[in-house]
Amino acid sequence: MVGASGILGDGSKPVKIHHLVKAPENTPQSISRRESWDATKPATVYKTPEMLRDGTPCTAATVILRTKGCVWWWKSGCTFCGYFNDVRDDVSADDLFAQWEEAKRLTNDFKDCKMVKVYTSGTFFEDRENPPEWQEMVLRETYERGLELIVEAQAHLCSPDKLSWVAERHPGCTVAIGLEAYDDTVLRFHCNKGFSTKTWKKSVSDLRDAGLRVKTYLLFKPPFMSEADALNFTSEWLREVAPLSDEVSVNPMNIQRNTVVDRIFRNREYRPPWLWSLVEMIERTHDDISSSNCRTIVHPTAGGRVRGAHNCKNCDAEVVAAIERYSVSRDLREFKGLNCDCKNIWKAEIDNDQSLPTPLGQGRDRRLSRVDMARAP
Ligand code: SF4
Ligand SMILES: [Zn+2]
Repeated sequence: MVGASGILGDGSKPVKIHHLVKAPENTPQSISRRESWDATKPATVYKTPEMLRDGTPCTAATVILRTKGCVWWWKSGCTFCGYFNDVRDDVSADDLFAQWEEAKRLTNDFKDCKMVKVYTSGTFFEDRENPPEWQEMVLRETYERGLELIVEAQAHLCSPDKLSWVAERHPGCTVAIGLEAYDDTVLRFHCNKGFSTKTWKKSVSDLRDAGLRVKTYLLFKPPFMSEADALNFTSEWLREVAPLSDEVSVNPMNIQRNTVVDRIFRNREYRPPWLWSLVEMIERTHDDISSSNCRTIVHPTAGGRVRGAHNCKNCDAEVVAAIERYSVSRDLREFKGLNCDCKNIWKAEIDNDQSLPTPLGQGRDRRLSRVDMARAP
């Protein structure tokens, strides 16, 4: 037993067992999960159909590496980010080189791929996260092979010096920044993002100066926000950030384990977005977005599942498919004739959110019986 003074009951000094670690990643399950994996193997490698920057369809390889993780997460972390489930602070440079070799082996040396997305659960070119010699190798190797490269970064880590270092090794590669929301209050209190819209705008101009491409992620429905606010705000943000970006990807919330949003979801204080809201956002913004040169993608990760964007269950597959088709065709007719009884429930929720004083929204579980829904959680 340690007293308030830090002295044990028998007068001896306690042995320091732990440095300060954040609670969720220190649960026995998280520790055993982290320690179960092999640091020489990447977390995930897969191929998907994609589009090159000139619009040509291609195959892209996505390589998700096991790294030390995001410096922001170690300090504080975004409210929805569960990447810490795939990171560990003892990943070495040798491990990362080995993971890259393994990714090549799994993809048959990037056979038939024209694009590679290299995701490190943080900022690719942050030296505290990834060893610079490894960054350099990935940048050069993908460039020499003529592969289009996408890496991710936090806005405030895009310093002009580092960006020109990157651009020298892989000219014209794409840097994706998780902006999430184009609103400082939402960034600070809903996302805990760690940077402001001003910092993001500066990073966009620095990226352009370095001749790099700008990809922006927006998060549809951060925690502590009603469905109607998510719909109205994100539509507005999309209109505003599209002209400043080469590509925008709107990511509807999917709830990752042990995050803040997971906590309020389990407490029945947060519902992932409706697929109908995504359709409505696309319809509202279509004209503005198609007149800019920006490519917009809406990809409902875990769409139709309870932890991802979903409707009533019956119509989920159909609506997800229409949204995915729209990302390729840019044709609003994909949504023609889509309907379901649950659309009225969604409409009522949006109306209520806008007329009743409940800032966190009216949304309830959509997969429970009406009786269970009416009961208090
Ligand atoms: S900056 Fe990115 S990787 Fe870091 S905590 Fe936020 S979402 Fe996660
Ligand atoms: Zn439905």
